[in-house]
Amino acid sequence: MINRRKFISGVGLSYFASLLIPFNKINASNSLNSFFLGEDGSKPLVISTWKHGLEANEVAWKILKDNGKALDAVEQGVRVTEADEDNLSVGIGGLPDRDGIVTLDASIMDENGNAGSVCFLQNVKHPISVARLVMEKTPHVMLAGEGALQFALENGFEEENLLTEKAKKAWEEWKIKSKYEPIINSENHDTIGMLAVDDKGDIAGACTTSGAAFKFHGRVGDSPIIGAGLFVDNEIGGAVATGMGELAMKTLGCFLVVEFMRNGKSPKEACKEAVKRIAAKLKDYKNFQIGYLAVNKNCETGAYCIHKGFNYALYQDSINRLIDADYLEK
Ligand code: ASP
Repeated sequence: MINRRKFISGVGLSYFASLLIPFNKINASNSLNSFFLGEDGSKPLVISTWKHGLEANEVAWKILKDNGKALDAVEQGVRVTEADEDNLSVGIGGLPDRDGIVTLDASIMDENGNAGSVCFLQNVKHPISVARLVMEKTPHVMLAGEGALQFALENGFEEENLLTEKAKKAWEEWKIKSKYEPIINSENHDTIGMLAVDDKGDIAGACTTSGAAFKFHGRVGDSPIIGAGLFVDNEIGGAVATGMGELAMKTLGCFLVVEFMRNGKSPKEACKEAVKRIAAKLKDYKNFQIGYLAVNKNCETGAYCIHKGFNYALYQDSINRLIDADYLEK
């Protein structure tokens, strides 16, 4: 935790450092404070996408403040959103594909670079926990569809109907108006992506979603794709994505964010560069939203998105709050 004494000593160290070290030896986008103190924010912390992140953070924070592991915090945190039947974009209650079938994607990464994911999973409420088991119990990273379901059932998960009355009604209304094409805009996607840093300074991340509402049957988005919807490198930091997954997939967005941080960008700057990459490479990017959220090893956090409207929940220093992300299209 940064206190006044540390801040002042940091400023002092930074001042002397600036006299001693040639500027080009210090990455310009890292503050001198972080260069010397090695810590810009306090740990533990948890950060997650959208307003539903506030509730999910509460559960993650409880684990973190009792010296729990970041990995447990992110899994348990996003399970809150997966279990929320009123939430139309994650787990049970998620909006179905254009055929009226709820299919779920999720991924998880730990501090050792291990990763697990499931995609196109049906009838299992907690895909994040199946993803964790894929990571811990198989030699693989990703299981899809029938195979993922079979694995989940073999490991004690139960099948249940994920299509709630509310989601079914929304789908039926959509069918009348929407010419049987999937619509993807900023109103009908809201993945929860979560990153945590625990007391030891270890970083883990999780991402779970029902994907783009009314997508083609069989469509898989960015969320279960390691590097696109989630990436963690415990030496550097982590990133998660939300929004139109195809944009993050085409640019391997979360891996890119972490690589920008590796090169010295702050989390916000790294997210901004990854959004700018989308803008530079994908002509129709203005039709879609993408939000990136990141944390670095110094416990700094930041986000950036294409259009106004993306927000995220940060729980740090015992305060859980919602923050509006900065955006490209002003
Ligand atoms: N990124 C998710 C997807 O494209 C959607 C979302 O963020 O809500 O599947």
